[in-house]
Amino acid sequence: MTRSAIAQTKHVPGGAMVFQRMFTRLACTGRPPHFVVEFYPYSSLTHSIRLREETAYVRLSDLLCNAPLEIFEAAAAILLARLYRRRTPRQIAEAYKNYAHGRDTRRRLLALRRKRARLRISHPCGRHHDLEPLFDELNRRYFQASLPRPRIGWSARQWRSQLGTFDPALTQIAINCALDRPSVPEYVIAYVLYHEMLHQKHPMKLARCRLESHSKKFREEEKRFADYTRAMKFLERFS
Ligand SMILES: [Zn+2]
Repeated sequence: MTRSAIAQTKHVPGGAMVFQRMFTRLACTGRPPHFVVEFYPYSSLTHSIRLREETAYVRLSDLLCNAPLEIFEAAAAILLARLYRRRTPRQIAEAYKNYAHGRDTRRRLLALRRKRARLRISHPCGRHHDLEPLFDELNRRYFQASLPRPRIGWSARQWRSQLGTFDPALTQIAINCALDRPSVPEYVIAYVLYHEMLHQKHPMKLARCRLESHSKKFREEEKRFADYTRAMKFLERFS
């Protein structure tokens, strides 16, 4: 947590009452805890609840600040259902889902992430590989130089399972700095970068690169990369 995040935490007027009400509506068992409900500047539509003895500490994404009461109640019900192992009533779950996936919410989320995303990257020129000239070269070769150059950099820390990400909200490509080694050939870096450039070309998702988000077309285009097989082979052994 950052210092500024603490400063931005805001008490939710009437929040405890809503939680009490939903506690009863869901027929949660036992004595209701004392609820402390705050808005928290998460960078996504995230909420959390923690029970410490007699007190439940709730943090709601401050995106809910202006949400209708029905949605506020739904978020409360979902959190309580999780905590007390109750089933969320279907109507409530649906209402929340519609809100969360609604165009307006997604637009606000994107704007928020642009402001708050904390994915730190360092300079594109790493210890052994330089990403920017590589981007330009790949752009000319595979994209007719049509991609605007995003912010590019090595991840500030090594990632365990991810090779790279493209973040459309930040227009930023980050490559796992674990690959910035002399033992990793340039065609491997080029392949990972090329993959993220394809995400830039096909903006189909909000978040980081996940395997299931690669369409058939994406996969076909990926195979146009000259060293595709060689790079895949290398990465299979890389850990
Ligand atoms: Zn991907």
